[in-house]
Amino acid sequence: MRRASLGLLTIGAFARASRLSPKALRLYDELGLLRPVSVDPRSGYRFYAPEQLERARLVAWLRRLGMPLARIRRVCELDGPAAADEVADYWREVEADVRSREKLASFLMNHLSRKDEPMSPLTIRYAVRTDRGLVREENQDVAYAGPNLLAVADGFGGATASAAAIDALKPLDDTVPAGDLLNALSDAVERAGTAVRELGEHVGTTLTALVRSGSRLALVHIGDSRVYLLRDGRFFQITQDHTLVQSMIDDGRLTAEEALSHPQRSLLVKALHSDGSAEPDLELRDAQPGDRYLLCSDGLYTALEPAALREVMTDVADPGEAVRELVDLANSRGGPDNIACVVADVA
Ligand code: MG
Repeated sequence: MRRASLGLLTIGAFARASRLSPKALRLYDELGLLRPVSVDPRSGYRFYAPEQLERARLVAWLRRLGMPLARIRRVCELDGPAAADEVADYWREVEADVRSREKLASFLMNHLSRKDEPMSPLTIRYAVRTDRGLVREENQDVAYAGPNLLAVADGFGGATASAAAIDALKPLDDTVPAGDLLNALSDAVERAGTAVRELGEHVGTTLTALVRSGSRLALVHIGDSRVYLLRDGRFFQITQDHTLVQSMIDDGRLTAEEALSHPQRSLLVKALHSDGSAEPDLELRDAQPGDRYLLCSDGLYTALEPAALREVMTDVADPGEAVRELVDLANSRGGPDNIACVVADVA
């Protein structure tokens, strides 16, 4: 064969050498990811050069990582260090996705294993407060509290995204049937995402909410607003921030202390966004009588360190006074950002 004498490989030989199937090679040709060096005009047979093997093997490895083809093309077009960075970015996203699916799996296990148990309904005493702070021109933070729903949202690119997201959750404040909790949450989250997308480009919001169902609380969370829990004298955060710095802490590339002064500490890796389809974390938690929850936007916890939050949560018995005190304290430290907070006691 004339081609073979030039050192070119038939698609079959190239497929064997690259561990990609001929079918995959034809697809990558059509996508421009890996073009044969020559195509016989009469037979349509594709021929590859041996030098293309390195790229083909890289494509095969990246496929094994589960990387989508469009992204593989991007990696192939970059030089070594930039390609490595792109793979690292991709892998961080995969890990975040696995963590979020892990939560969903435990939600489902918890939900299914206790589906038929009788539930003792709990009552919740709550108070809510938002404040513009002392620096920002408008307030893009929204908070809501009702007998079955507690929620905060921190909007960016326009105040309406946070309000739209919270409005989409409000139907959950009417009693949610326990068996239908996961679907009701998922529908509400879907409504919130749609509402935000309809607002146009470059707007988005965080959304963090607790939905009561009998003696359990379902947590919906995306972005860097937080939920803290005061239980049996211990005060701790029960949400993970979807921020760049948190993913760097998780990777061991940054300490929690360094994160506090990192220039990109408020950069979100996940939010309800007009041009994104990121899924919130869902989690099902047992509520206990005596539990006290604090939901807040970053305007509160960046102004007040955990010890200050804990002190107010421990010392101020009335939820209404507690939210007032928290906002006043944050403003006494300069009020650099909008604040949304909810304090709720489980009785
Ligand atoms: Mg904020």
